[in-house]
Amino acid sequence: MIKVAINGFGTIGKRVADAVAAQPDMEVVGVSKTRPSAEAYIANQRGYPLYIAEINKRKAFEDAGIEVAGDVTEMIKHADIVVDATPGGVGVKNKKLYELYGVKALWQGGEDHEVAGFSFCSSCNYTEAKNRQFVRVVSCNTTGLCRIIQAMDEKFGVERVRATMVRRGSDPGEVKKGPVDAIVLNPVEIPSHHGPDVQTVLPHIDITTMAMIVPTTFMHMHAVQMDLRSDATREEVLEIIEKHPRLGLVRKGTGITSTAELKEFAQDMGRRRADLYENCIFAESIGFVGRELFLFQAIHQEADVVVENVDAIRAMMNGADDATTSIAMTNRALGFTAI
Ligand code: NAD
Repeated sequence: MIKVAINGFGTIGKRVADAVAAQPDMEVVGVSKTRPSAEAYIANQRGYPLYIAEINKRKAFEDAGIEVAGDVTEMIKHADIVVDATPGGVGVKNKKLYELYGVKALWQGGEDHEVAGFSFCSSCNYTEAKNRQFVRVVSCNTTGLCRIIQAMDEKFGVERVRATMVRRGSDPGEVKKGPVDAIVLNPVEIPSHHGPDVQTVLPHIDITTMAMIVPTTFMHMHAVQMDLRSDATREEVLEIIEKHPRLGLVRKGTGITSTAELKEFAQDMGRRRADLYENCIFAESIGFVGRELFLFQAIHQEADVVVENVDAIRAMMNGADDATTSIAMTNRALGFTAI
């Protein structure tokens, strides 16, 4: 069993912990929090040993009725690999600790590519992650872009990508973030950082991105245009998406035309926390002008990177030979097939 510690039990960390616990070849040896919170109670309830960043806060946790197993350095000693899911900019500061204890570590997209020198997306570069000590799993938007671009590039060749990201304002639990009543260009300048971030995984892709933030909490929406190098039909694109384990199709018959309806759909399917791990590509939006492919895809910011973290662990620990095997194991353990 691969012993996994999760440093930072927040939006991403708690989902990664549950996904790891569901895998037949992995176990959670600890999770960490900085202060008593609802998530700390959940860690106790799930039976995940709870470690804390500063041991002098132990009394505050115990006064709140939360059991503490020790501090983060103790947690690291029990682990083969640490998933760092602390807030962007905090994770990089933990690198020295991982180096000191000689433990493998993977970071999230809030850190720069340089933190690990290798950026990961399961269906793009699984094999290159094998046996590495440090890996960064790219952000939710970058993961969503990389998946669809790689799938089209493999079959038709991709000459150029243009994509606009309409991003959620905050995660559902974040009461202090916005916007409440605005569309915020983020950034105003073009390109946004998403294009260069895709190139950390797929360096040969010519891509330019624009981004804005809107007052919603569930999912981002991407408007994607791709110039393909060879002729392709809508039917061929649909077939590739249907066969891909991390690309989902939102079919016309469902009547779904919004992220709100997708959330309802995820809940009705019985997905834990309404998590949509796959790209949700609107079937009717797929179309061509010449060799230029157009589509809309919705990306669940809290979920798509979770399954990528599990595959990254497996690659780094040499737990499965290839992406196809690992992705199938991860999906099966979570009981899902792409919509
Ligand atoms: P979050 O704020 O929800 O959770 C971070 C957790 O880390 C919190 O539980 C906090 O208590 C804990 N923490 C803070 N400092 C710590 C420390 N020094 N040691 C141990 N724990 C500490 O953040 P998040 O949204 O889960 O984001 C985590 C990472 O994942 C970031 O890099 C972010 O960019 C990336 N990411 C977030 C999303 C998203 O939509 N939320 C999507 C993809 C990637």
